Amino acid sequence: MNRLYHALQLKRLHQLKQIGFRYVPLVEKKTAPAATLPDDLKALEQIVSQCQLCALSKTRTKTVFGEGNPHAALMFVGEGPGAQEDMTGRPFVGRAGELLTKMIENVLEIPRSEVYIANIVKCRPPNNRVPTPEEAYTCLPYLQKQMELVAPRIVVALGATAYHYLTGDKSGITKVRGEVIDMGVYRLVPTYHPSYLLRNPSAKKEVYQDLLKIKGML
Ligand code: SF4
Repeated sequence: MNRLYHALQLKRLHQLKQIGFRYVPLVEKKTAPAATLPDDLKALEQIVSQCQLCALSKTRTKTVFGEGNPHAALMFVGEGPGAQEDMTGRPFVGRAGELLTKMIENVLEIPRSEVYIANIVKCRPPNNRVPTPEEAYTCLPYLQKQMELVAPRIVVALGATAYHYLTGDKSGITKVRGEVIDMGVYRLVPTYHPSYLLRNPSAKKEVYQDLLKIKGML
């Protein structure tokens, strides 16, 4: 009976996929302190500033918690801090940050201080490498708690790493960019990371289209 039921469910899922539904697996929580984290951004930031849960704590200068309107309707999530961010403790303040600020202020026409900006990991990976799954999953509960407290309506995943850890989907960013994904309590829009745009300026026009879509959703 169970086998027949599972076979029918699989057939049904296959039919849904064929007509365009996308499978978005739940993000696996390898560590799950989120339930015990405080319901207060300042208190959460304090905990993050002393965190030594993964190896990135050994090489960081400052933790980069995130910043912005604590009740923002729009949140941006990047991969992790770079050199400037590690020095200052603020997200997106280097060249990529300047570009992100222009994207927010010139295209969306809202002050940067009105959105919330954070990263998958709060400490800089050495040489700006991609965080390992262990580092990302260890840090993810902090971001999940931030998202729960800020409660944005729209979250923009900047680049493949942010998209992957927010959805569990390993699709390339080129494939999913510009989609609007219903995540239940918020809608997720993946787009290219500003660092990628610095290396590939021709991709700016696609991000511009994504931003116009986001502007229409706000
Ligand atoms: S990256 Fe996250 S989990 Fe790792 S030490 Fe920093 S704050 Fe803690």
